[in-house]
Amino acid sequence: MSALILDGRKINEQILAELKPRIDSLTRNRRAPGLAVVLVGDNPASEIYVRSKVKACQDLGIRGFQQTPPASITTAELLELIESLNRNEDVDGILVQMPLPKQVDAPRILLAVDPAKDADGFHPLNVGNLVTNRPAPRPCTPAGIMQMLKRYGIRVEGKRAVVVGRSDIVGKPMALLLLHENATVTICHSKTPDLASECRRADILIAAIGRPALLTRDFIHPGAVVVDVGMNRITDETEANRIFAHDEKRLAAFAKNGRVLVGDVDPRAMAEISSAYTPVPGGVGPLTIAMLMSNTVSLAEQHLA
Ligand code: NDP
Repeated sequence: MSALILDGRKINEQILAELKPRIDSLTRNRRAPGLAVVLVGDNPASEIYVRSKVKACQDLGIRGFQQTPPASITTAELLELIESLNRNEDVDGILVQMPLPKQVDAPRILLAVDPAKDADGFHPLNVGNLVTNRPAPRPCTPAGIMQMLKRYGIRVEGKRAVVVGRSDIVGKPMALLLLHENATVTICHSKTPDLASECRRADILIAAIGRPALLTRDFIHPGAVVVDVGMNRITDETEANRIFAHDEKRLAAFAKNGRVLVGDVDPRAMAEISSAYTPVPGGVGPLTIAMLMSNTVSLAEQHLA
């Protein structure tokens, strides 16, 4: 039987459609929800992410406040900008696009965002709320994955979940959200010995590593649900040919564009061995944006209640 493709674009549309009446009601009765996106410097990948976030705001009727200070900004100047957004009553959510330039003290910036406007759920206070399972904005990528599992009717309780990656933005919060839903959770990282055998124990395998197609056939328990968070751009032809040997369409796209996107899991193995999986692209990526919008709307409802 072929694996179920977990379609992030479809879930994204569902979530946004559910948000629309809530946004319309806020706009009619009070004012539009507002999201400030701070993009420092000119990192091309960050620019693409920010553009899609701002576009999602426009499409939905969320007011976007885009701030684009130069790469030379100091910590003090950026703190001042964050403070002004904290004070701005039209702004419900603030997102500071990472990474920040080296001279900026990133932890201080995250700490400066008002926890009540923390659209990404990265403020230490909200991290504490996540650990203790209190209501608060949750980090968008893992929250989106939980929505996806729920909306596809994939049971988490009692399952063995393995999360590969322990970053503050994906791996750790992912593990906590799965734990709160009563999975038995293992967190793996670069120092985990015998990663393949840890992964093979997973009923639900989440890969958030940033290494193209690192998890191959040997890492997947037949019938497991596989969620591939990785977004790796490949520009090397040999590597593209190796990973997409089975996929003429993707190879043609590589030949045309000189690059192709691949997750952290070998796409062929994932499609052949899992019972359900998220494709790259079109799996986890769209959910991150949907949850950012969702966090912003929830914050606006709290501010305007
Ligand atoms: P980080 O680089 O912050 O974390 C990567 C994690 O993977 C680390 O915990 C690291 O371990 C672990 N790791 C690295 N190499 C190995 C290895 N060989 N074996 C086992 N573990 C390893 O990345 P992020 O969490 O920020 O992102 C992970 C991936 O997800 C990236 O590809 C990123 O682009 C993508 N991403 C996608 C999003 C989306 O919306 N689809 C959103 C956010 C991220 P250690 O801690 O020991 O160094």
